[in-house]
Amino acid sequence: MKKEILVYCEQRDGELKSVSLELLGIARTLAENSNGSVAAMLLGENVKGLCKTLVEYGADKVYVADAPELKYYLTEQYAQASSSIINETKPNIVLFPATSIGRDLAPRLSARLHTGLTADCTKLEADADGNLFMTRPAFGGNLFATIVCPDHKPQMSTVRPGVMKKAEPDKSRKGEIVEKKIAFDNSKFAVTLIEEKQEKSSGTDIADAKLLVSIGRGAKTALAKAKELGGALGAEVSCSRTVVDEGVLPQSQQVGQTGKTVRPQLYLALGISGAVQHLAGMSDSEYIIAVNKDKAATIFNVAHLGIVGDANEILPHLIKEIGARKSA
Ligand SMILES: Cc1cc2nc3c(=O)[nH]c(=O)nc-3n(C[C@H](O)[C@H](O)[C@H](O)COP(=O)(O)OP(=O)(O)OC[C@H]3O[C@@H](n4cnc5c(N)ncnc54)[C@H](O)[C@@H]3O)c2cc1C
Repeated sequence: MKKEILVYCEQRDGELKSVSLELLGIARTLAENSNGSVAAMLLGENVKGLCKTLVEYGADKVYVADAPELKYYLTEQYAQASSSIINETKPNIVLFPATSIGRDLAPRLSARLHTGLTADCTKLEADADGNLFMTRPAFGGNLFATIVCPDHKPQMSTVRPGVMKKAEPDKSRKGEIVEKKIAFDNSKFAVTLIEEKQEKSSGTDIADAKLLVSIGRGAKTALAKAKELGGALGAEVSCSRTVVDEGVLPQSQQVGQTGKTVRPQLYLALGISGAVQHLAGMSDSEYIIAVNKDKAATIFNVAHLGIVGDANEILPHLIKEIGARKSA
C-alpha cells in the first residue's frame, strides 16, 4: 500500500493560504521519491468548495471535516479534528505550515500522537522507504541540521511560508474527496471565542510582494527615501532584523530566519551586510541588487548586481532616474 503524505491545508475565512499549496508541491515531490501518495486535510465550516483546488495542486485525496465547531480556529477543536483524522488514516508523514495556526496546532498534535516534530524546515527529502529527512537551521542559523524520526510515526514537520514552491495547478487532475465526521468531546472545549478582530494591514504582505526595497542598519535613516523609491517602483519596503530591533519598522516587514521568507522578482538590499540569518530569507529572490559602502560585504556574494557606495547618496539618484523613465 502507498504510504500517505498528509498536508494540513490552512484556510481562513474560506480562503486557502498560499503556503498550503506550497506544501502540496513539496509533498508531491516527496511522494514521487518514496512511491507514496498525497492527501490534504481541510478543516473549517463551509469549506468543501476548496477541495477541487487542493486536487488541482497535487492532492490525490482530500479529507475534509466541515463542521460548525471548526468555523474559527480554536486549538482544542482543531486538535481533536486533526488527531482523529490522523489516527484513522495513519499517514507516514504530516506537513504543517509554520504559520501562527500551524505553530500552535502541530506541537499539540505531536504530543497527542507521541511522535516528533521538526519545526521550520527549509528542506525536506524522502528515501524510497518513506523516511523523511528534515533539514532546518540550527545554532542561530550558522549550520543546518538534518533530523530523522525513524521510530515514531507519523513523521511531522512545519515549513514556513515562501520556502517551498507551489506546483503548477492541473485542472484535469482527479482526486477523491472523503468527508470526515468528527465526534467532538465538547467537555474539553475550555476556550470560547467571543469576538474576532482583524488587524488592518497597509500594503501587500512582503512574502507576496513582487518587488522589495529592503533597508538595513546602513540605510535605516533613509526610510522616507526608501518608501519614496518603493512608491515609484510599486515595491513594498522590508528590512533586516537590526532595523526592527531599533524600532524603525515593525516585525511584519523583517526578512530572514526569524522574519519572513521572500522570493520577489527584485530584491534591492540597501545597507544590509548579508548575515546568514538574513540570507536565509531572501537568497532565492530572482534578482538581487545590493548597495553597500563596504565592497567586501557578504551581501555581494548573493547579489546579481552590486553597487559600492553610500545608500543615502544613491537613493535620490535612483528615485530621480525611475521618475524620469516613467515620465519618458
Ligand atoms: C537566531 C538569530 C536569528 C536572526 N534572524 C534574523 C533575521 O530574520 N533577519 C535578519 O536580517 N537578521 C537576523 N539576525 C541578525 C543577523 O545576524 C544580523 O545581525 C543582521 O541581519 C544585521 O543586520 P544589518 O545587515 O542591517 O546590519 P549590519 O550587519 O550592521 O550591516 C550594516 C551594513 O550596512 C553597511 N553600511 C553602513 N552604512 C552604509 C551606508 N551609508 N550606505 C551603504 N551601506 C552602508 C555596512 O557596510 C554593513 O555591511 C538573527 C540573528 C540571530 C542570532
